[in-house]
Amino acid sequence: MPPEAFNSRIPGFYNLPLEERRVKILDHSQLSESDLADLSGQAGLNPEEANHMIENVVGMHKLPLGIALNFVVNNRDVLVPMAIEEPSVVAGASYMAKLARAGGGFSVRTSPPEMIGQMQILEVADLYHAESALFSEKDKLLSAAAQVDPVLEKLGGGPRDIEVRQFPDSPVGPFLVLHLVYDVRDAMGANAVNTATERLAPLVESITGGRVHLRILSNLADRRLAYAECRIPSAALAFEGYSGTEVVQGVIEAWAFAAADPYRAATHNKGIMNGVDAVVIATGNDWRAVEAGAHAYAARGGRYTSLSTWGQDAEGNLVGSLEMPMAIGIVGGATKVHPGARAALKLMGIKTAAELAEIIVAVGLAQNLAALRALATEGIQRGHMSLHARQVAIAAGAQGEQINQLAEQLVADKTVRIDRAVEILEKWNQPG
Ligand code: NAD
Repeated sequence: MPPEAFNSRIPGFYNLPLEERRVKILDHSQLSESDLADLSGQAGLNPEEANHMIENVVGMHKLPLGIALNFVVNNRDVLVPMAIEEPSVVAGASYMAKLARAGGGFSVRTSPPEMIGQMQILEVADLYHAESALFSEKDKLLSAAAQVDPVLEKLGGGPRDIEVRQFPDSPVGPFLVLHLVYDVRDAMGANAVNTATERLAPLVESITGGRVHLRILSNLADRRLAYAECRIPSAALAFEGYSGTEVVQGVIEAWAFAAADPYRAATHNKGIMNGVDAVVIATGNDWRAVEAGAHAYAARGGRYTSLSTWGQDAEGNLVGSLEMPMAIGIVGGATKVHPGARAALKLMGIKTAAELAEIIVAVGLAQNLAALRALATEGIQRGHMSLHARQVAIAAGAQGEQINQLAEQLVADKTVRIDRAVEILEKWNQPG
């Protein structure tokens, strides 16, 4: 079956035993049993492979891998793999994707996959003169950069432009920064860009008469943006004692807090990154790079603010959008080496880095709404506590059936604490 034929809505999935969930994923995707084993960690990356990835390897670190349901991204149903240790993230994303589904799902797009390589040029006699010399030699610089990665060039990528920025008042004396704008196609692009900036250094020195010091990619990938939008009918947001209009209003007020206050914006954006990072990790991408880009972008106006925006349309529907840098790839780095990451891409039917970026930004927006909706209504702890209680139960030593029983007891007692969990468990497990 082609990936577009699969339905991401699997009612009752969360209630199924682990093994039955795996069967459902096989039914609802193009994964083979061996792909699923790679994705779920039953097979996948082994210590031998890991030993080639980083240094001083002694083994591997595991994280839970959940599947977010209900996502419709640009009219296509997609099951989204999320690697994360925090409870309620996968449930929150799935629930909000279900609400967004009522309004047609997420509309997404990306800008071209252009990364920025930076070159710091010190000891320049005249900043303006050197800047204009660089622009005069722009074609020469771009054609030298184009020779660095013939694969990218063949795929239609490669250097696109240069930018020059002046820093006249630095403690180490005035310096210039040359930006090499580089289209990296389906790669994250760090290696291509870093190599290109290193190779260009002698040419840049001869053009400017200065000394090229740092040559490195910028993680503020503000030319490589991903954008998601959703429109949720107000009626779909009504629940328990809350009308749809109250929820819409509450979410917008909550967003306004993050838009105005960096203390709140940091937590608001952290909620977005709960969703973003989980997919970035599941696909073997560099989440530190995506984190760095997101927060730097959130501060681009000189004051740190919300990455998302929430409002309502003339009909009273809730309308949300999220725009952020998305420097991720589907070739290179760990994405091709890690069998679980390859299976994650296959699950989503991903063919380009742009498609992956679009799904990730949609998950970020869904996650943001999950947090805002809870905060604006019943508070974050209610939904969180029942899931958190399961972790507390496990930490207290509960096993098998007792995990859920103990978690339910802790929630019913409104005391989700490890000491209480241990106490209950000891009582239950007393012989006789
Ligand atoms: P890479 O160099 O392993 O692979 C990219 C290369 O694959 C391209 O340069 C190209 O030659 C080739 N390629 C084949 N098919 C392609 C296609 N369809 N589209 C694009 N390229 C294709 O990987 P990378 O993406 O350059 O680097 C990613 C790694 O760099 C990550 O592991 C990241 O952690 C690391 N890194 C990050 C930073 C940073 O974020 N500041 C710095 C250094 C390294």
